[in-house]
This record gives sequence, structure tokens and C-alpha cells, in this order.
Amino acid sequence: MWRTRTRAAPGEGSARLGVMIVGEAPGRQEDLLGRPFVGRAGRLLDELLASVGLRRDDLYVTNVIKDRATTPTTPAHDRPPTAAEIAACASWLREEMDVVRPRIVVTLGRFALASFLPHLQIKDVHGRPQRWGDIAVLPLYHPSYALHSPGVRPMLFADIRALAPLLAARRAKTGSVNRGRRSSRQERPAPR
Ligand code: URA
Repeated sequence: MWRTRTRAAPGEGSARLGVMIVGEAPGRQEDLLGRPFVGRAGRLLDELLASVGLRRDDLYVTNVIKDRATTPTTPAHDRPPTAAEIAACASWLREEMDVVRPRIVVTLGRFALASFLPHLQIKDVHGRPQRWGDIAVLPLYHPSYALHSPGVRPMLFADIRALAPLLAARRAKTGSVNRGRRSSRQERPAPR
């Protein structure tokens, strides 16, 4: 992917709340700017976060793969990441997890969900928090899906409401800052 990308788009944001958002792959805008979720899907993500009283800067935002996935013959079009591309980028996601030490991971779309809980189908679990080791995983549909299928939009806004009780439980346990105990790769499974 480095052959066709303009810039890699690694994750960015804050570890303070202990929340990590994991999307799929950079798109055109992300490829140009080298930042995750800065295009149309990113604007919808901002709206979703605002609906539960959060701002992008409060969280860490990243993707399963860090380079835009296109096809040489149709470079204007994004395509789903391949298993090999996901595997090639998995170590970056693991490093990000080690640095941010999230207590809550919000997965956007099926590829992000499969990186943590490959046995689950998004249609069965969207909006319902799951456990991944000692981390709460909230699976959501991808915002791009709602951009293409407007009927999905209300479902996405309903599903993200599950984040509020997860945050409240975390605040009750640790206060508002990321004071969770230091985690290590040994304590929980690594994202695939
Ligand atoms: N932009 C991103 O950074 N990730 C996505 O999954 C979609 C758009």
C-alpha cells in the first residue's frame, strides 16, 4: 500500500478518557492529510461523538490499516482491506493499544470488530458492549455505511448511546483520567 498511498494515516488523539475508536482504513481525504477520519465519515463520527457529549480530542482515533487501500486500475475507489494487509498493520494497532491503554474500544464496521472479536457478526452485536479481556468493546456499524444507506443513521445514533454507561462505569471506578492499571500484552489477547 505504500506504493499507492500519498501519506500514511496513523492514529491520533488523547489517551485521557481511555477510549479508542477503531475504524477500517484511511480514505481519500485521510490519504491526502495523513490523519484518520477527516472526510465525510469523520464528520459523521464527530456528530455521533457530540451526541453523547464527547469531542474527537477526548479520544484516540485510529484504523485497522494505516494506508488507503485502492486498486491500481481504479485508484479513485477505496476497496476493503485484504487479510494480508490487516495482518501487516496489526503490529501498529497493538503498539497503539500498548501506548493508549484503552479501557473502552469502539469498533466501526466489520473489519475493526473482526480484529478483536472475529467470531462475532456485526449484525448480531451492534450497539451491545462485549468483553475483550478486561476491555469493553462496543461494536458499531461504520459511519460510511450510514452515508450510503441513510436508514442506518438512526441506528448508529441509537447504538452509540451505549457508550455513556460504559464511560460512567469507568469514571466511577477510576475518576475521569486514564488511571487504569498498567496493562501489558500478556494480560489480554492482542488484536489480530
Ligand atoms: N476514514 C477513516 O479514517 N477510516 C475509515 O474507516 C473511514 C474513513
